[in-house]
Amino acid sequence: MSAIDELLSRNAGLTERVLGDRSTPQPSLKVALLTCMDARIRVFAIFGLLQGEAHVLRNAGGVVTDDVIRSLALSQRKLGTREVMIVQHTNCGLQTVTEDGFKDELEKASGLRPTWSVEAFREVKDSVRTSMNRVRHAPYLLYTDVRGFVYDVHTGGLTEVF
Ligand SMILES: [Zn+2]
Repeated sequence: MSAIDELLSRNAGLTERVLGDRSTPQPSLKVALLTCMDARIRVFAIFGLLQGEAHVLRNAGGVVTDDVIRSLALSQRKLGTREVMIVQHTNCGLQTVTEDGFKDELEKASGLRPTWSVEAFREVKDSVRTSMNRVRHAPYLLYTDVRGFVYDVHTGGLTEVF
C-alpha cells in the first residue's frame, strides 16, 4: 500500500466527524497562517484550529514567495482575511542547504538552473523578518498586519520575532 492509499484509507469514514463551519469559504478568524511543510508542525492541533477558521498556507520553509503573495492577495481581497501570521521553525531543512549548493545540484542533475530562489537560511529569525518585510511591502495586499514566530519542534513553544 502506498502512502497515498494509506491516507485514503484513513479518510474513509472520517469526513462526517470534522468539526467547524462549512457554510462559507471566508475564514471566520480572518487570518491567513503561513508555515513550513515540515511534517512535525501539526498546524490545526498547535493552534486549536477548526475547519473554517483560517487560511493555512504551507511551503518549504514557510517563506513568503511570489506564490504566497498570490494566495494572500486572494485571501485578503476575495475572502476577507485581515491578518497574516508567519510561523517558521527550529531545525528546518532549509538550514541544511545553501542557495547555490542546491541550485548547483539541480543544474547538475537536470541541465537547468532554477530561476526561483531556494530561500535557504542559517538563522531562522532572519528568515522570519525577511518574510514579514515582504508582506509589509507587497503592493497587492490590502492589509499588512503581519506577525512572525519561530516554533520549536521539540518543545512546541512559540517565540515571536520582532
Ligand atoms: Zn521547515
